[in-house]
Amino acid sequence: MERKEFRELTPVDEARRLVNHIKVAPGTEYVCIGNATGRILAEDVLSGVDVPGFNRSVKDGYALRARDTYRATEPEPVTLRVTASIPAGCAGKFFVGDGEAIEISTGAPIPEGSDAVIMVEQTKQVGDDVLIYQPVHIAENIMRAGSDIMKGERVLRRNTRIGSREVGVLASIGIMEVPVKRLLVGIISTGDELVEPGKELLSGKIFDANSYAIASNIEECGAVPRMYGIVPDDEKQMEEALERAINECDIVLTSGSTSAGIGDIMYRIIEEKGETLAHGISIKPGKPVVIGMINGVPTIGLPGNPTSALSIFNEFVAPILYNSLEVAPSFKTKVQAVMGTGIRSGGREELFPVGVVRGRAYPADKTSGAITTLADADGIIEIRAHTEYIEAGSPVEVTMFGNARSPDIMFVGGQCLGVDLLEDVTGKIIRTLNMGSSAGFTAIAGGTTDIAGVNMPDAEGEYNSHVIRKMGLTDVVLVKGYKRELGLIFRPETKVGGIDDLPGLRLINRNRGSGTRAILDMELGRLAEQKGISRAELTKTIEGYNSGSKTHRSVCESIKDGRADVGFGLRAAAEEAGLAFFPVTEDEFDLVVRREVLDAPEIEVLLRTLVSEEFSERLPAGLRTYGRTGEMILSF
Ligand code: AMP
Ligand code: MG
Repeated sequence: MERKEFRELTPVDEARRLVNHIKVAPGTEYVCIGNATGRILAEDVLSGVDVPGFNRSVKDGYALRARDTYRATEPEPVTLRVTASIPAGCAGKFFVGDGEAIEISTGAPIPEGSDAVIMVEQTKQVGDDVLIYQPVHIAENIMRAGSDIMKGERVLRRNTRIGSREVGVLASIGIMEVPVKRLLVGIISTGDELVEPGKELLSGKIFDANSYAIASNIEECGAVPRMYGIVPDDEKQMEEALERAINECDIVLTSGSTSAGIGDIMYRIIEEKGETLAHGISIKPGKPVVIGMINGVPTIGLPGNPTSALSIFNEFVAPILYNSLEVAPSFKTKVQAVMGTGIRSGGREELFPVGVVRGRAYPADKTSGAITTLADADGIIEIRAHTEYIEAGSPVEVTMFGNARSPDIMFVGGQCLGVDLLEDVTGKIIRTLNMGSSAGFTAIAGGTTDIAGVNMPDAEGEYNSHVIRKMGLTDVVLVKGYKRELGLIFRPETKVGGIDDLPGLRLINRNRGSGTRAILDMELGRLAEQKGISRAELTKTIEGYNSGSKTHRSVCESIKDGRADVGFGLRAAAEEAGLAFFPVTEDEFDLVVRREVLDAPEIEVLLRTLVSEEFSERLPAGLRTYGRTGEMILSF
């Protein structure tokens, strides 16, 4: 098949204008108030009852006639005769005459004949009498029927988004079923590689993230998602799915298959069945987006990459939903932040994913197509086409994804169960990017993280400070962390008794740039020396030496499922995975902290926790604090 190049890209402003004119008429359905949250009211709601439905007391006290109290004073109280007691919810008939009072609870109906309630604190009951120490005026402490909501009053307007307050109002006027707009939005995910979450993931496959993420986004807008599942990259099946969805829904969204590559045929189907309004928008990410109309049903082909799909949804689909539902976008919260680091852009307008940590925005844009971008991003910033560079410290406006809570602390570096424990004990949200020690140092140098977790030894076995020295980092502090037992990890049935057993076994190594890999290299260097060969010669005899797993946990996974025989890593990780462990050495896992964040309360808590007894006691097997834990090194 021929590779089709993108034709004219639609400029962003034009695409915005385009979607602002698209509007469909939703239907109406009745839903139970228990399921109405987030939906949009289709009609005004009038109250069929008074709230409260009767005059009721707002205090515990005595119902009486106000004029009987007018002469009451502290030294000369008035005495009234107590004839009865009315609890809340009481349906009985009572009457208060001259010189009488009836004991009454908060929320109970006011008896006939009385026109005020005196608080119990201003009285004293003596036998069958009550002494009144203060005068009360007519209507005091009485909530009149209908004073909250009057029968016939409009309590909620059409086009209101239903939240907890609205549900409360509806319940208080006795409404169980409420008319809401039903804007049905179909979702079709396309791609031979997709598997439904919860099913088995065969090799080469990925889970379908888009169906569920987009459905959730549709709900957040107040519309109703309907999933049509995963359709393989097959023209006929796509066509069938589209046809069904277009017949049943008000709006149809597809994801994937929009780029002009082989097997990507969605746009052609839209073209054949209806009208293409835009194919390709001049925006990053997600330029392959199709906006079309098939039989009056807006049909939008979103890009397959999940971050792109959600960004494009927010930008070009949400407005259609809001227009159709006749509501203002309410959940789109914008926060002001400053760039934590400079970013380069230019060429096209860009929706740039960022993480937001304590008011600072960091690029969450790893390579396009990385699902982690989505998990690590809290929102997007819009960068204009002519902007080439945004400097660190520049103010930016971040449009947050849904109601994401942004993290308290940013952490880049080696993966460690001790960091998970720090997160548990501090109760802070730590966003961890487990990419190894080198990445940690790089991120600290670039200002894109608060803390780097590092375990990089030099030839003398001194940890981390030599790297700081070599990189010339001046505005950082090295905080000594804890020691970790490192060794060989293998399935219990494999025979491993030391580093010299490695030749002949399939190794799963850590990624280049991880301290753990560097430590294994030192051990291998020592072994090579014993054997009188070079390290390179030795590593050639170890199958898998060039592999590079990013975390301790993923090393264990590879061994567990038999892709490798042995790995080098933490005892804690081996035990967690139920694997055997042969101890080889201990490393020092330290934290490099940017000096300017040292006083932030979140960082202070973390550093205090590091030296706490609780942290020390709860460390998993193979990890231990020691004399230098918490020691701060300021100069290198
Ligand atoms: P496509 O637009 O089909 O070329 O897809 C672009 C990228 O997004 C590919 O790497 C796909 O595997 C990925 N992708 C497509 N659909 C989904 C989905 N529903 N969930 C997660 N990733 C997807
Ligand atoms: Mg595809």
